[in-house]
Amino acid sequence: MMWRPTTFLAALAAAILSVSWSAPPATAETEPALQHPDQQAQARAKLEALETKFGKTPNILIMLVDDLGWGDPGIYGGGVMSGAPTPNIDSLAEGGLMLTSAYAQPTCSPTRATLMTGRLPIRHGIYRPPMYSEKGGLVGEITAAELLHKAGYHTALVGKWHLGESEAQQPQNVGYDEYFGFLGVCDIYTEWRDPYFNPEVVYSPERTAMIKAAPYSKHLVKAKRGGKLEQLEEITIPVLANVDQQFADYTVEFLQRMAKDKQPFYLIHAFSKVHFDNYPAKGYHGKSPGKYPYKDGVVEVDDIVGRIVKALHDNGLAENTLVFFTSDNGPEEDMYPDTGYTPFRGGKGSTWEGGVRVPGIFSWPGVIKAGRESDGLFDLADMFNTSLALAGVRDAIPADRYIDGVDQTSFLLAGDGISNRRSIFYYLNDKLAAVRWNEYKAHRYIVEVGNGQYEAMGSMQNATIQQAAKSIFYNLYVDPKERQAVTIRKLWLAPILQGEMARHKATLMRYPPKKPQVTLE
Ligand code: CA
Repeated sequence: MMWRPTTFLAALAAAILSVSWSAPPATAETEPALQHPDQQAQARAKLEALETKFGKTPNILIMLVDDLGWGDPGIYGGGVMSGAPTPNIDSLAEGGLMLTSAYAQPTCSPTRATLMTGRLPIRHGIYRPPMYSEKGGLVGEITAAELLHKAGYHTALVGKWHLGESEAQQPQNVGYDEYFGFLGVCDIYTEWRDPYFNPEVVYSPERTAMIKAAPYSKHLVKAKRGGKLEQLEEITIPVLANVDQQFADYTVEFLQRMAKDKQPFYLIHAFSKVHFDNYPAKGYHGKSPGKYPYKDGVVEVDDIVGRIVKALHDNGLAENTLVFFTSDNGPEEDMYPDTGYTPFRGGKGSTWEGGVRVPGIFSWPGVIKAGRESDGLFDLADMFNTSLALAGVRDAIPADRYIDGVDQTSFLLAGDGISNRRSIFYYLNDKLAAVRWNEYKAHRYIVEVGNGQYEAMGSMQNATIQQAAKSIFYNLYVDPKERQAVTIRKLWLAPILQGEMARHKATLMRYPPKKPQVTLE
């Protein structure tokens, strides 16, 4: 047979087209999990027994506080010591599993998007929070809420959103069956109304009118899946002061409703507090021993945790509900004294431990063994995979994208389970800033505050992102405050930590990063 180039090229083209190397893989690619068959079997047995007993898969309730420091709850070292006792949060932890190495992102919106999508900011594109009239949200992303809705769950979000205000990005259009809360972050509703902070706006009718006319939502809102957003009252200072009480009332009523419902539920209760500015709610002025508004806010949050947990018990829901209590980043230190406590270096906005290590408490009476404490690695992205696994729909994880989360069901549910996560990747905007493996951490980029003193507060303003001259290694057990690098003594770590970074970067070659979604348009 004669050589025919055109036939050969056609055959080659057909062969290329038949090989789906540009198509997404058939099964989802998630962050590889460590395998622990014994604890997996234990968790499976518990879940099967529960489904037999209750006739449905478990409910999931996430309580997400804004800017609460790792050290604020008493059981994490704060509480009475820092002028704000937290008996309800403490007893939630004592009755379940307290994590000491749960990780969020350095700021609000990136964390919220990661919690909901199982993906790091480099993939969901929300590298920083949208402020005032900025645009950008969960474009092209798939939330756990959406997948759980399809799996028969009733999905709800109560409280702060801060993941985009345009209609397509509002909660009721990205997975939530019902929503009550506000779309932004609390300070953008009130700081320009407060004559103490911004007299040049308050006493200028022109400037006040200018902000009032700015195109961002300034009201409490509610919505039902696929419906129009309904505008409720305007968020003035007194409204903001009491808004967490309104959110708590809604959640308690929601739980009463769900107790009578055949569907399991997935609820994110996202507090407004303790993000600045903390205006005390009615009855909370000076209620804390610390007397500062932040401390009163911590006491109020703790009371609400107690109310929500009581509502679970009162309505017979506790035995079939996984509760997760956490925060969306480390303490905000730029608005001193409206700030929380962390024993670690740095605060909100940094990838020092103080910026990203958050309280992480799991509670599930009779299912999660009481009194557990673990330093196992947990990224808030893991809630995506874990929620889908609890719902029995692991297969629903989308196969056209990389998922950074790991299914941690067996870690949480097995008697003394250990974490299924190998490492934590820390991001500053689009930069892979650090990696943690076991108790070791390597920095590539760091946040320098003020004159570079680690004791200095404030990682947002007056701070710079700097490229580390070389990788800086720390041992977080010996040196949790990251004061003394151990790079030269621990060079044996280099191939391990750099290998983890290389493995992560290879996923970005296969699944290119998303461009920043938050822009001023
Ligand atoms: Ca926050």
